[in-house]
Amino acid sequence: MRMTNQREIILEELRNTTSHPTADELYLRVKERLPRISLATVYRNLEKMAELGLIQKIKTSGYQTRFDGNPNFHYHIRCIYCGKIDDLPIRPIKALEDPEHIELDGDLGGYKVVGFNLEFLGICPECMKTLNNKK
Ligand SMILES: [Zn+2]
Ligand SMILES: [Zn+2]
Repeated sequence: MRMTNQREIILEELRNTTSHPTADELYLRVKERLPRISLATVYRNLEKMAELGLIQKIKTSGYQTRFDGNPNFHYHIRCIYCGKIDDLPIRPIKALEDPEHIELDGDLGGYKVVGFNLEFLGICPECMKTLNNKK
């Protein structure tokens, strides 16, 4: 099996889902098509594709890295109940996306700030339903 072929299948599986899977979750999907593939291979290919800008890595402190088959800029929202991540199809918040406009007042503790992670938090429609049913 050629490397590129493996990579194509991994990319295909990632782009076929909107669930922003972790490497382990994606591995289980890819394994159905490539039974002999290893988690390390899936991981290596994901890292490489992220480097090449074909996919995105979603990193939030305290959570496992997730992967997104959509390489274009967009925001994400995380459900505070079930932890799932969805795309949040809003326009870029200009003030945040143009670093020149971010004024950092106060003591930075000697840090040079180079960026930040922005993730919206919310309650997904399914969890909302469950919550409403409990009332
Ligand atoms: Zn939820
Ligand atoms: Zn996304």
